[in-house]
Amino acid sequence: MPGEISPTAAAALARAWELSYLDPQAAGALGRRLAASGGALAADGWLQVALAEVRSGDETTAQEAMRCAREAYEALEDRDGGAAQRARGLALVDEVLAIHLRRIGDYEGSARLQAEIDERIAAQGLAYDAMQRFLAHNSRAITAKVLGRVDEALRHYHAAAAAAEATGWDGPRITALSNLGGYHQDLFNLEDARALSEQALAAARKAGAKPVVATAASNLIIIHHAAGDARAARAMADFLVGHPDELVPGVLERHALPLALAHLGVGELDEAERYLQAGAVGAIADGDGMTFWGWLRARCLLARGHAAAAREVAEQILLERRERRLSDQPYDLMELHRVLADACERLDDTRAALACVRHAQALYEQLVGRSARARYAALQVSHQLAQARRERDLAVDSRRSAEDDRRRLAELNAALQAQVAQTERLHAQLREQALRDPLTGLHNRRYLFETAPAMLELARRQGQPLAVVLMDLDHFKLINDTYGHAAGDAVLQRFGTLLTGTLRRSDLVCRHGGEEFVALMPETDGDAAQALLARLLEEFQQLPPEAVPGRRRLPGGSFSAGVVLFPRHGNTLEQLLSRADRALYAAKNQGRARIEQAPRTGFGSLV
Ligand code: GH3
Ligand code: MG
Ligand code: MG
Repeated sequence: MPGEISPTAAAALARAWELSYLDPQAAGALGRRLAASGGALAADGWLQVALAEVRSGDETTAQEAMRCAREAYEALEDRDGGAAQRARGLALVDEVLAIHLRRIGDYEGSARLQAEIDERIAAQGLAYDAMQRFLAHNSRAITAKVLGRVDEALRHYHAAAAAAEATGWDGPRITALSNLGGYHQDLFNLEDARALSEQALAAARKAGAKPVVATAASNLIIIHHAAGDARAARAMADFLVGHPDELVPGVLERHALPLALAHLGVGELDEAERYLQAGAVGAIADGDGMTFWGWLRARCLLARGHAAAAREVAEQILLERRERRLSDQPYDLMELHRVLADACERLDDTRAALACVRHAQALYEQLVGRSARARYAALQVSHQLAQARRERDLAVDSRRSAEDDRRRLAELNAALQAQVAQTERLHAQLREQALRDPLTGLHNRRYLFETAPAMLELARRQGQPLAVVLMDLDHFKLINDTYGHAAGDAVLQRFGTLLTGTLRRSDLVCRHGGEEFVALMPETDGDAAQALLARLLEEFQQLPPEAVPGRRRLPGGSFSAGVVLFPRHGNTLEQLLSRADRALYAAKNQGRARIEQAPRTGFGSLV
């Protein structure tokens, strides 16, 4: 009951919260003292013990502490605000339980429990303080991250950062910076990742937050490497190895892989291999770092000229990943496919090399898309934080007259609005960049695959036909060879312009790659598609010659097309494109400059 709490006990509890993300063991020890005192703060003491044990102790002790905390909160009497304290305490025990569930791998269970707590908080009108908000958001962010829910994770990480700021304590602030930096790194937003991790490292060193020093420095090695700055990565490795007094004793073993990477990046193979060997057991056993280990190992082998061994290692890792159903970072997976491609190429297996390069490219595109989203979220939140800080300054500055304040507020609002507009422009721009082909200005394949499912679904629900067309320019290589690559580019651009001018706004047109284009045309049957394409072909063939660089005049070109219908020839974009590719092939075989429809038979109507 709040009335009986001694000032020293209250101070000890506040100190325990303050320490909980800086030095969990110390926070747990303080919690244990409060719990043993049996006073009114015993429940809060047990909560601290549970939090510390769940995050860095052992499972049995954690469960026991959670049970004690729950019992102690349930025993609180209703009077003197006890009912609210009980409800909030029980919610916090569940927050700790959600962390525990995640730690033992029950990610879905953790997410479900967190959603249930949120409902309870809303229904009972519970109020968390800044520290508790940090704990809740940080934990939800990590759960969302492991479940691959990117937007949700970003939202919670940023909310955690804002709450951490509001606590005014080092522990949560450093944790928030480090976690957020780590996540931007996962999302391949290297710029924000580097800035955040550098801030986290500096703050952690200043506050003596040993676990974060090593994590942030390790992350920076990987970030520098991904950004192509091998020397900075190597320097960070020197820092890690050179400051054992700033690290948790023995922690370097867990950072063997980034250290190997730092040496590999500057060609120091002996050191890289030594660290790889040290990190091998851990990486392979827990599966977490297996892909990371695999591509480093394969790179070392390749650097030593052992292409066959490198290929074997990389393929073995891919196999293991499938068998153990590991889902690690797309970045590591991309690097693994890259090194595998290099090994295959060295072994003259160009088919396999090409397949790996394609896979790596698809992963890269996925990373770039994520990166744009992450960058946007970071910008949005940074100006929200700036606004919060300004508002705080405004409130503190009581000497100003009301009139001054009003004017300042208006200015702030204007500045904020300008910032919002700029952020939105940047977001739109980043998204556009990720989804458009720079040469023709048409959408790219990424956009096609993002948008097509919704278009197909709409056509299915409306019972309307939808035509899918694959077009390929004829003898395009000849144009390049005869008139030069720049002329080839100009033809691609002309064709792009013609396509957008001829097709409807509701049609989706994209450059599928090289000199191949795809169009999805809703509410269009085979006859209508045929008529439209015939007109397009005629116009393209009759385009007036155009001056191109080199002052030679370009003749009009032709294209061949394969047409299929949804759902007659397939239910998914992949099926439809593969069917259209066969029709296109037939068109090429029959002399080019023609449009070939897939026959009525084909995939059955499976819808
Ligand atoms: P076919 O009629 O059988 O389609 O013959 P083709 O010559 O068009 O087909 P092929 O696949 O042999 O050649 C396609 C060429 O397109 C080869 C490649 O160099 C060229 N190409 C791909 N992308 C671009 C680009 O962005 N600009 C230019 N100028 N050429 C490109
Ligand atoms: Mg082609
Ligand atoms: Mg072609």
